[in-house]
Amino acid sequence: MNTCLFCNNGLKGRIDKKFCNTQCKSAYHNQSTSSIETYIRNINKQLRANRSALRTACPQGKATVRKEFLIKLGMDFKHLTHSWKSKGGNLYYFCYDYGYTPALEAGKVVIVQKQDYMND
Ligand SMILES: [Zn+2]
Repeated sequence: MNTCLFCNNGLKGRIDKKFCNTQCKSAYHNQSTSSIETYIRNINKQLRANRSALRTACPQGKATVRKEFLIKLGMDFKHLTHSWKSKGGNLYYFCYDYGYTPALEAGKVVIVQKQDYMND
């Protein structure tokens, strides 16, 4: 026997039924929507935290810092808004208007503030 996707009660009737009734159906959809909303909200929060960490570590437009320093400031390197490739072929990872690229020295990154020419 199939069970209701929301309350797990056994379902009678049509074989393709997924819910006991319309209440269970809308409760199920509200629940799954809100978990996606929570997921999106948490990522947005992390992106803001990343931007703020990069900004704090780079007050003058350009800076080279250790990755651990950024992590201490709340950076999570998984979450980014976009990437940009310089003419020299360096790939920069951005969180809004601050970006970074791996530095030559291991464990460090070069942080830059977004410039107008980076829009292309
Ligand atoms: Zn149900």
